[in-house]
Amino acid sequence: MSNVPSDIEIAQQAKMLPITDVAKSIGIEDDDLELYGKYKAKVSFDAIKRVAGNKDGKLVLVTAITPTPAGEGKSTTSIGLGQALNKIGKKAIIALREPSLGPVFGVKGGAAGGGYAQVVPMEDINLHFTGDMHAIQTANNLLSAAIDNHIQQGNVLRIDSRQIVWKRVIDMNDRALRSVVVGLGGKASGFTRQDGFMITVASEVMAILCLANDIMDLKERLGKIVIGYNLDNMPVTAADLEVNGAMAMLLKDAIKPNLVQTLENTPALIHGGPFANIAHGCNTIIATKLGLKLGDIVVTEAGFGADLGGEKFLDIKCRYGGLKPDAAIIVATIRALKMHGGVKKTELGAENLEALDKGFANLQKQIENMRKFGLPVLVAINKFANDTEAEIKLLEKKCAEYGVEVSLNECWEKGGEGGIEMAEKLVKMLETEKSEYRPLYDINDTIENKLNTIIREIYGGKGVVFETAAKKQVKRLEELGLDKLPICVAKTQFSFSDDAALVGAPTGFEINIKNVRVSAGAGFIVCEAGDIMVMPGLPKVPAANRMDIDEKGTITGLF
Ligand code: ADP
Repeated sequence: MSNVPSDIEIAQQAKMLPITDVAKSIGIEDDDLELYGKYKAKVSFDAIKRVAGNKDGKLVLVTAITPTPAGEGKSTTSIGLGQALNKIGKKAIIALREPSLGPVFGVKGGAAGGGYAQVVPMEDINLHFTGDMHAIQTANNLLSAAIDNHIQQGNVLRIDSRQIVWKRVIDMNDRALRSVVVGLGGKASGFTRQDGFMITVASEVMAILCLANDIMDLKERLGKIVIGYNLDNMPVTAADLEVNGAMAMLLKDAIKPNLVQTLENTPALIHGGPFANIAHGCNTIIATKLGLKLGDIVVTEAGFGADLGGEKFLDIKCRYGGLKPDAAIIVATIRALKMHGGVKKTELGAENLEALDKGFANLQKQIENMRKFGLPVLVAINKFANDTEAEIKLLEKKCAEYGVEVSLNECWEKGGEGGIEMAEKLVKMLETEKSEYRPLYDINDTIENKLNTIIREIYGGKGVVFETAAKKQVKRLEELGLDKLPICVAKTQFSFSDDAALVGAPTGFEINIKNVRVSAGAGFIVCEAGDIMVMPGLPKVPAANRMDIDEKGTITGLF
């Protein structure tokens, strides 16, 4: 077993620099910062405008194989890689998503990296941070309140309360709120209707914040949100309800990127946090672009496997941001590859070369996927204490045979030092291999064709099957001319298919789409597959049960 202390113990020992010093190291002056205490700051739009003419650095996407529920270490690798790049003299900046409280209290226990590759102050980043989630939730729920109030006050827009698609949100895994009835209590309490809650990170407001270029763009996009339909089946928008200005106002600070640092004082922009299974899975375009203006190399991460977050980063975020990624790093763990080779979760600790050999198919498919977008690929093996020498050798050999560069990543145990070889291989790749980045499909194609392209090319499946309701929804979007947008598939993160139990690299399956809705403000069409839920639940023993704080304010149980 490893002697590495817990994530929170390591984070509490960190020697943080004042955030003003971290900012100075990348050319951001004190006046450009809005401080949230000594170690967190938002970067002002004046600074963003001032550096807009700088030459862009290189953009590296960190993505992964199909993960286990514990996560395979994308954040850990992104942070460790940033630290390692700094060690070899590169000005690296990390651009990550903000953790959501739901998974912090559920299974994950935190999402600020791990071991000696973390962003700090870890407790703050994992808890309320700079209040962005709160602002997003409030803007979302202002719109919900406006909808019900509009109906109560006479319903001039003739909103059909049976066709409202906008939901309330809360940043908590709370399954009891998935379906609720609002407006109980008589005439003064509104019209009764069925509603539901999503987790905040699934809100279209979050997606809009992540895809907007500035506050005016944000306001315009908020105005385009389709909240539902009127009695003539025509869309009703947030602009029709005249609240997009107030929603943008609520987000005036949330739209500014947050600057923090790693355990080794590498600058990290942590901003925006949609999940990649139920949303588009990438941090804000504003933060990524700012990083490119300030650093030689920006290391950014997209959620879950390369089929989900990776695909959405390349087909949605890069398209809207005009970003041209230079390389992809695919994080692989031996334990997850053994799971893809058929080993039970309880037996992943034992050496099993045969299962690893078989499970390699999942990594191979994810490599192929990233290459379909024209990106040079480096595989990073995130080393765990249980991995055996023979397993590591086998995985390296299989990568070499397949013709992909590979590096053993020991950042979790050793910090930046453990990622030097990975950083050097990446730098060499950036110098010698040219990215031919191109998105996968034409947004002007039909919804069905776009989905079939993703399913066949990226998931390895046969094609899409629309359930009856979804078929009608597609037809309506086509009639309204709202179909010429990229697709955001909401799907289980545990399989290429829509069945979480189908591990490895399955083929021949169909993807069942049960619900199709337009996020006209964000600019994509969400297609919900299989049993995916936009409001997660807590496990039998949530991580929250192990969390505590003492009289000195010392926190335990975040990890
Ligand atoms: P992802 O970003 O892919 O979801 P994370 O980087 O958040 O994954 O890591 C998930 C959890 O696994 C964290 O608690 C982290 O501390 C732990 N972890 C990551 N890499 C290792 C490793 N090499 N050894 C042990 N634990 C690790």
